[in-house]
Amino acid sequence: MKKVAFYTLGCKLNFSETSTLARLMEQQGYERVEFNQQPDIFIINTCSVTDNADKKCRKIVREAQKINPDGYVAIVGCYAQLKPKEISEIPGVDAVLGAAEKFRLHELMPTFVKVPNGQPAQVFNSPIETAIDYHAAYSLNDRTRTFLKVQDGCDYPCAYCTIPLARGKSRSDTVANVVRAAHEIADRDVKEIVLTGVNIGDFGVGSGNSLLHQQPETFLDLIQALDEVTGIERFRISSIEPNLLTDDIIRFVAQSKRFVPHFHVPLQSGSNRVLGLMRRRYKRELYTDRVQKIKQLMPHGCIGVDVIVGHPGETEVEFKETYQFLTELPVSYLHVFTYSERPNTSALTIKPTVPGHIRAERSKMLHILSDKKRRAFYESQVGRDATVLFEEDVTDGFMQGFTENYVRVVAKYDPLLINETLPVHLSVINSDGLMEVSEPEAVLAIH
Ligand code: SF4
Repeated sequence: MKKVAFYTLGCKLNFSETSTLARLMEQQGYERVEFNQQPDIFIINTCSVTDNADKKCRKIVREAQKINPDGYVAIVGCYAQLKPKEISEIPGVDAVLGAAEKFRLHELMPTFVKVPNGQPAQVFNSPIETAIDYHAAYSLNDRTRTFLKVQDGCDYPCAYCTIPLARGKSRSDTVANVVRAAHEIADRDVKEIVLTGVNIGDFGVGSGNSLLHQQPETFLDLIQALDEVTGIERFRISSIEPNLLTDDIIRFVAQSKRFVPHFHVPLQSGSNRVLGLMRRRYKRELYTDRVQKIKQLMPHGCIGVDVIVGHPGETEVEFKETYQFLTELPVSYLHVFTYSERPNTSALTIKPTVPGHIRAERSKMLHILSDKKRRAFYESQVGRDATVLFEEDVTDGFMQGFTENYVRVVAKYDPLLINETLPVHLSVINSDGLMEVSEPEAVLAIH
């Protein structure tokens, strides 16, 4: 029995797909092992959002070669779709599979041959326009929470982004299929599902769906149906575009049984001129309106923000505008990305570009602001009761987990509490910035 190991770079969507590819390989009789357990086959699922992602892939190929020089190395994912030739010339790589081919990995694997040193790898890659099929996926056994793919690809023209070139047109599953998958996952004793995709607010309506669906379904239809899935205690929406985050969705989450009050909403810039340069589909006023709506209906709701610094054309004044905008907004934390030139994106034509050291300075300032926001949000939670889902990872005798509104909690390790959602009282923020908890009065009263 051939041993296969996987390594995943990038986003939750990639983790859901790696886990599914692994299950398909196991069904074909391969044995899944850890990366450092001498596998015969290494599968690396790649990302290509930044330059760094490409470099990471090369490093992992070198590691694979050290672990088993005779091992077979196949590269899949976004980098494999965007730069197949470049990857095929990386020493040690034997096969490169693009977006339309990666889900045929288990079928193609028996035909693969080890490539002699110095020879380019076999490339199985077709133009992204041909990646029209939707492949369902979800992660299992990798973490306490499961990432459930509900949508793929994107129809948006954001100037800095290569994802549409790596993953193709927006397309999604059907509500019925996703609900079926959620029940399968519930049967595996998973308590929390994170809905993932590229542009999940576009569920059911993406241009790639016309091939699949008679009656267009919407993201609201999906979450309403999932809210009835017994066995799953929490559903978390991974990220949703502000212009697709409707009042109906916010209202539904606020009164739902299982959807947690946590929204991750990409902003990218707090300057309307820069949002225009980025070709984003909203103005900052809409973003403010979404945040206020969430806080009105869920005052303890957690709001995470994606923001890009150093986009071409961004002036010092406009960066300060973004900084001030985020300072004033009642958001909970920031994910800060430094603009990175990507081939074939329209942002490359925008002048002037922002020098690297200025990008770094702006990134540093927003990281500091993010820490302040997170601290303020955590302080606003001290003294409240909440529920926590404790996760497997144990460090120095302590376990961690998240509340429904995404506060990271730490407690003394107790194997009985792993993968359980428990009522707790949020008592104090410790020196590591984590929330310490005690049993809520109600529970203490019971004992
Ligand atoms: S919405 Fe924009 S940033 Fe997001 S994946 Fe689509 S093109 Fe990229």
